[in-house]
Amino acid sequence: WVTAFTVGMLYALLSAILGESKENSALESELLRALGSGEIQVHLQAQCDVSGRIVGAEALMRWQHPQRGFVSPAEFIPVAERSGLIVPAGEVVARQVCAVLLRWRHEPALAGMTVSINVSPGQIRDARAMQRLLDIVTEPGLPHGAIKFELTESVFVEDFRGVRERMAECRSRGIRMALDDFGTGFSSLSYLKLLPLDQLKIDQSFVRGLPGDAGAVAITRTIIGLSRELGLETVAEGVETAAQAEALLQLGCSTHQGFFYARPLPVPEFEALVRAPLKRAAAGSSPALQPA
Ligand code: C2E
Ligand code: MG
Ligand code: MG
Ligand code: MG
Repeated sequence: WVTAFTVGMLYALLSAILGESKENSALESELLRALGSGEIQVHLQAQCDVSGRIVGAEALMRWQHPQRGFVSPAEFIPVAERSGLIVPAGEVVARQVCAVLLRWRHEPALAGMTVSINVSPGQIRDARAMQRLLDIVTEPGLPHGAIKFELTESVFVEDFRGVRERMAECRSRGIRMALDDFGTGFSSLSYLKLLPLDQLKIDQSFVRGLPGDAGAVAITRTIIGLSRELGLETVAEGVETAAQAEALLQLGCSTHQGFFYARPLPVPEFEALVRAPLKRAAAGSSPALQPA
C-alpha cells in the first residue's frame, strides 16, 4: 500500500503542478492579448509630504479583464515575469506615464509631480529592453527629473555590475532611482554605497508594526538613519493609519505613501485628488497632516 500511496501522492502533486502551469499559460496568452487591447491601465497612488500635499505618485499596473474582471498584480506580475511579458507590459506602463506627464505640464497643480515606475529584474537584466525603456521615458518634452525607477534588491543577485552600469546610465539621462521594499530582500548593506541611488522605500511590513512593535520601530529608525547618512530620500510605503504617519514623522521620515492618504486610483481620479487638496486635508485626522 505504501507504493500505492506514494504513487497517489505523486499523481496528485503532478496534476496540481500541471493544473497550475496550465492556468498560468492560459493567463500568459491572455496577457499577451491584453497588452494590445487597452485592458492594461496604469493607476496612480499618491506620495505625500508632511503637510499632506501630494508631491508625486507611484504607477501601478492594473488589468481589467473582460471576463475574469480585475486580475490582481499579485497574480499576473509573477506570470509576466516568468514569461518575459513583463518587458512589453512595462513598456505599456511607461508610455502611459509619459503621456500623463506631458499632459500635466500645462496644469500648474500637476506640473511638479514625479511618477515612479516599477522596473522588474527581467527588464533591467536585459540590456536591450532597458535601452528601449529608456528611450520611452526620455521622450523630448518630458520634464527633467519627473520619472523615477523603482527596483527591488532582487535585481542585484545576478550581474551586479551590469545592473549598476544600467542604473548609472538611467541616472545620467535624468531618471532617478529608488530601492523598493527595502529591508525585505537580499540585504547586504555593502552594496548600498556602491549603487547610484536617490531614494529608499521603507517596506510596508515595517510600517505595519508602528508605533507599537519595538522591533519595527528600531528597524524603521535604522533605515531612516542609514538613508540620511547616505544622502538618500526616504519614502514610507503602506501607511494605513494616522498613528503610523505620526510615528514616521517622529522618526524623521516625511514622505509617505499608503491607504491612509489615498489608494491607487485611475488617472482622472488621481488628478481630481490633486486638484482638491483641502477636501483631503479635512478628511485627515492627524493635525500634523493638515496643511500649514
Ligand atoms: P510595490 O511596488 O511595492 O507596490 C506597493 C504595493 O502596495 C501596491 O500593490 C499597492 O497597491 C500596495 N499598497 C499601497 N498602499 C498600501 C497600504 O496602505 N496598505 C497595503 N496593505 N498595501 C498598500 P499592487 O498594486 O498590488 O502591486 C504589487 C506589486 O506588483 C508591486 O509592489 C510591484 O512589485 C508589482 N507591480 C505593480 N505594478 C507594476 C508594474 O507596472 N511593473 C512591475 N514590474 N511591477 C509592478
Ligand atoms: Mg514599487
Ligand atoms: Mg514596495
Ligand atoms: Mg512589493
